[in-house]
Amino acid sequence: MNNTVQLILEKALAAERLNFDDALTLFKSHDLLALGHAADVIRHRKHPEGYTTYIVDRNINYTNWCYVDCEFCAFYRHRKDPDAYVMEREELGQKIQETLDLGGELILMQGGLHPKLKLEWYEDLLRWIKANYKIHVHGFSPPELDWFAKINRMPLREILTRLRDAGLDSIPGGGAEILTDHARNKISPKKCTADEWLEVMRQGHFVGLKSSATMMYGHVESYAERVEHLMRLRDLQDETGGFTAFICWSFQPSNTELEHIPPAGSFEYLKTLAISRLFLDNIDNFQSSWVTQGPKIGQLSLKFGANDMGGTMIEENVVSKAGTVYCMPIEEIERTISELGFVPKRRNFFYDILN
Ligand code: SF4
Repeated sequence: MNNTVQLILEKALAAERLNFDDALTLFKSHDLLALGHAADVIRHRKHPEGYTTYIVDRNINYTNWCYVDCEFCAFYRHRKDPDAYVMEREELGQKIQETLDLGGELILMQGGLHPKLKLEWYEDLLRWIKANYKIHVHGFSPPELDWFAKINRMPLREILTRLRDAGLDSIPGGGAEILTDHARNKISPKKCTADEWLEVMRQGHFVGLKSSATMMYGHVESYAERVEHLMRLRDLQDETGGFTAFICWSFQPSNTELEHIPPAGSFEYLKTLAISRLFLDNIDNFQSSWVTQGPKIGQLSLKFGANDMGGTMIEENVVSKAGTVYCMPIEEIERTISELGFVPKRRNFFYDILN
C-alpha cells in the first residue's frame, strides 16, 4: 500500500476527520482491500451488535409526468406520451395493502415533477393514506419539494410543515446525483441546484423530518466533485443531524441520453462506498445498493462499510427503466446477511429493530 494512503487510513482509524485532499487521494488510489478493511473497522465500531438490518418497503412512483428531462433518466414521460400516468387511489391503496400484507413498514413515494398538481392534492393524498393505512410515508425527494414550493409560490418551510402535518413522515434523499453545479448543469440543468437540494433538507430537518442522503456517481463528475458532494453532506449533517443514512450507487446508463457513458464497475462501487464511510463520520447508517449492484456485490458491501441491506424494494420502476434492477426475496436477503456471520434484523425507518 502506498504510504500516503496508509497515513490517511490511520488518521481515519484514529477517529480524526478526513479533509478534502485526504478523500481525493483515496479516490485516486487503487488499494481497494485496504480501504475496505478500514471502512469495515469503522462500521464495526459504530455497529458492534453483530447484526445487519433491512427494511420491508415498496417504491411507489405516483406519477411519471415530468418536464425536467434529466439526461440520465429513463423513467419520465411527457403529458402526451401514451404511458404517462398519475396513479389512481385504488391502485395506490392496493400497493400499500400488499406491502402491509408482507409485513412492510414503509412506502417510498416519489414521482416526476408534475406541472399541474397543487399542494392540496398532495395533502389530500397523505391524509387519505394515513386515514386508511398504518404505514410510514417516506416521500417526495428534494427536487419534488423544491418544485412544490415554486409552483405553489410558497416558502419551502410552509410546504414542508403542511406536508408533515398531513402525514409525511420523512424525506428520501433522491435527486442529489452529484451536488455540484458543474455536474448538475450537464446532466439535469432544469432540476434544482445543489444549494436548493441542500436547503430542502435543511428546512426539512428543521421541521422535524429526518431524511436519507444519496449519491449517484459515475457519469460526468470528477473525483473532486464526489468529494465536494460528500463534504456538503457532512457539513449539513454537522448543522442539523437530520440524515439517518447514506446510500450511493452508480449511474445506470441504458435507455438514457447518456447511454454512451460506460457504466462504473464493482471496484468503483466498493471503493466509493468505503471512502464515503470513512469520510462521513457523522452519518451512522450506510445502505448496500444491491438493487443496482446485484446481490453478490450487495453482500460484499457489508464488508466495505455498509451495515444495512436497505429496502426489499417490492417494486422498483426508476432504475429498472434504465435496464438495471435486481430483486431478492426477503429469505434471500436474510441468507445473504447470514452467510457473512451477521444476524439479519428487520428495522423501521429510524433503524429501530423490529424482531
Ligand atoms: S430524474 Fe426525476 S426530475 Fe429528472 S426527469 Fe426523471 S423523474 Fe424528472
